[in-house]
Amino acid sequence: MIKRFEETLYHDYAQSFGVEEIYYENKTAHQHLIIFHNAKFGRVMVLDGIVQTTERDEFIYHEMLAHVPIFSHGAVEGVLIVGGGDGGMLREVLRHKDIKQVTMVEIDETVVEISKKYLPNHARGAFDDPRLRLILSDGATFIRETDEKFDVIITDSTDPIGPGESLFSHDYYRGCKGCLTESGILVTQNGVAFFQAEEAKKTAGFFQQLFKDWHFYSAAIPTYVGGIMVFGWGTDNAMLRKIPLETLEARYRKSGIATRYYNPAIHRSAFALPQYALEIIEKNKH
Ligand code: SAM
Repeated sequence: MIKRFEETLYHDYAQSFGVEEIYYENKTAHQHLIIFHNAKFGRVMVLDGIVQTTERDEFIYHEMLAHVPIFSHGAVEGVLIVGGGDGGMLREVLRHKDIKQVTMVEIDETVVEISKKYLPNHARGAFDDPRLRLILSDGATFIRETDEKFDVIITDSTDPIGPGESLFSHDYYRGCKGCLTESGILVTQNGVAFFQAEEAKKTAGFFQQLFKDWHFYSAAIPTYVGGIMVFGWGTDNAMLRKIPLETLEARYRKSGIATRYYNPAIHRSAFALPQYALEIIEKNKH
C-alpha cells in the first residue's frame, strides 16, 4: 500500500500527504479515482493525480462557490451544478430552503457512488433530497442540448485536464449564458491564480465577450496549493456584484444557514483581488 501520495498537478512542485488508509483506488470510465485517509485533512479524493476535495477544508470552497451567487441573486429557484460528484456543493446549495430544484450534471457515476460510500460527510444525505435531479452526462453536452434556464449555474469541475477540459471552452461558457435566466449568474472553479494564471486569463477573455458584468472572486483553500483560488463570475446584471452589505446580512440571517467560512463581509471582500490577479485577468488597465 502506498505510504505517501504526491500530487502530480505540477511537474516541478508537489504537495505530499501521508496515507493512513486507502478506501478506494481504481480507474472509472473517465478518470483515475483514489480516496484515502490523511491525518491532517481526513478523507481525501484524488482524480487523475490531482487533489479534488478533503474533509477538513472542503467547506471553504463549497460555501464560497454556492452562497456568493445565491445570496447575491436573492431569489434563486433553479440551480445547475456541473460536476460536483463528491456532493459537497449539492449539500451547500440545498441548505437554501427557497430553492425549488437543483439539477446536477456529473459525468462520472462512480465518483458519485464512491463519494456516497466513502465521503459521507460531504453530501450528508443531499443526494436523497427530492429537489435533486441528477443527470449522469458530460456537462458540455447537457449545456449544448438543453433549453432549460437556471438562476445560478455552478461549474464545480476538475481542472481543464481530461473530462474537465470541455468546461473551460468558449462554447461551454456561451452555452451557459444561454441557459441563464434574466438575472442569472454563472460561477466557475477557475484554479489557483498564482500557479494556473492561464486558466483565469482564458476564462476572463471569454467572459469579457459574453457578459455585461464579469469578474473573479477568491478564497484560499489549503489543499489547492499556491494561495487564492479564483472563481469566475459572469452575469448581465451588474447590480448583483454590488449588493449592499446590509442586504447580504439580512438575506444571510433570514436563511438560517450556519456557515464556517462564508459571511456577508467575506462575500463582499472576496471580489477585491490582488494586483497580480488583476493583471492576469487584465483588469488593471487604467
Ligand atoms: N472541488 C474540486 C476542484 O475545485 O477541483 C472539484 C471537485 S468535483 C469531484 C469535480 C467533478 O467534476 C468530478 O466529479 C468530475 O467527475 C466532474 N467532471 C469533470 N469533467 C466533467 C464534465 N465534462 N461534465 C460533468 N462533470 C465533470
